[in-house]
Amino acid sequence: MMTIFNEIPTSGQVLGPTVARIDLSAITDNLAAIEAAVAPAAVMPIVKANAYGHGLIPVARHLQGLGVGQMGVAHLAEGVELRKAGIECDILVMGGLVANQIPSLIGHRLSITASSVEMLRQIDQTAAHLGKRANVHLKIDTGMGRIGTHHRSAGQLFEASLEATHTDVDGVYSHFATSDETDLSWPKTQLARFEEALDFFPAHGLETPMRHLSNSGGVLQLPKANFEMVRLGIMLYGVYPSAETTRTITVRPALSWTTKIVFSKVLEPGEPVSYGSTWSSAEATRIVTIPVGYGDGYFRLLSNQGEVAINGRRYPIVGRVCMDQFMVDIGEGSARSEEHTSELQSH
Ligand SMILES: *Cc1c(COP(=O)(O)O)cnc(C)c1O
Repeated sequence: MMTIFNEIPTSGQVLGPTVARIDLSAITDNLAAIEAAVAPAAVMPIVKANAYGHGLIPVARHLQGLGVGQMGVAHLAEGVELRKAGIECDILVMGGLVANQIPSLIGHRLSITASSVEMLRQIDQTAAHLGKRANVHLKIDTGMGRIGTHHRSAGQLFEASLEATHTDVDGVYSHFATSDETDLSWPKTQLARFEEALDFFPAHGLETPMRHLSNSGGVLQLPKANFEMVRLGIMLYGVYPSAETTRTITVRPALSWTTKIVFSKVLEPGEPVSYGSTWSSAEATRIVTIPVGYGDGYFRLLSNQGEVAINGRRYPIVGRVCMDQFMVDIGEGSARSEEHTSELQSH
């Protein structure tokens, strides 16, 4: 499969009909729409997992060109890749880590998520040992149950940060578990817990570090949680975090995946399709074969579930998705028709 950025035509030989197109201008527009909605809060674009499959380096370079001040990744390795590609802005590594990653995090000037008192002390000691300064964001668990100091013990993490001599605290944050659902009672509880934990700072006459809590669902549905910054992933790429989320900001998909039909046939009633013979036609129908499979990243879970658009109409995937091909039922009406060559699109 070929990936094309900004529809720049590639030269050379055609390798196949399957193309993933990344429209970077959609990312520009989505970011602008999100920034306008959350201002004066800043946006930290999240580029983990290969920029949600859109290409880490091209997306990060594009964002850098747009002047973003910070980006978020999950892993140290992603941060290192960004630094090697010349990305100079603040980069927050959001995931949990093991102690032997700390020297490399500091060495590449990556902001570290300090999710426990113990980890914060190890970060500070490592920075002292290296004769450098570490940058951290303190992580509080308010109900996600993943990483972070439990909200009731947050004061201990904050106190430990005051004792650190080689560490700058650039932020304090938490993460929503259910902000993309209709029922917002849990995110509201998380928000209240976060605010209560943060009372530590004014109560001790201290300036509160930059606060950030919201992800895409929170930005759409709980603007009270925007604080000084929001961490924006899926919406940057033009996809809503769930079907039920209120769409208070308009975004459009940056990625489209197209190919062409490579085979077409009429099946008689009862004839099965694909591995396991999990589907068979009830009546005569036309089945077309698409040259994409789970080896190309097309989820096998979409077997007998997914849909593709052919010439603007949606049709069901039938049978199991194979490693490099799958089949689509384009219907009884076209069973005897010879008109079937077409462009296929999947979002
Ligand atoms: C992935 C992630 C985000 C982005 O979430 P979206 O729902 O994609 O906007 C934000 N914060 C953390 C900690 C994450 O892991």
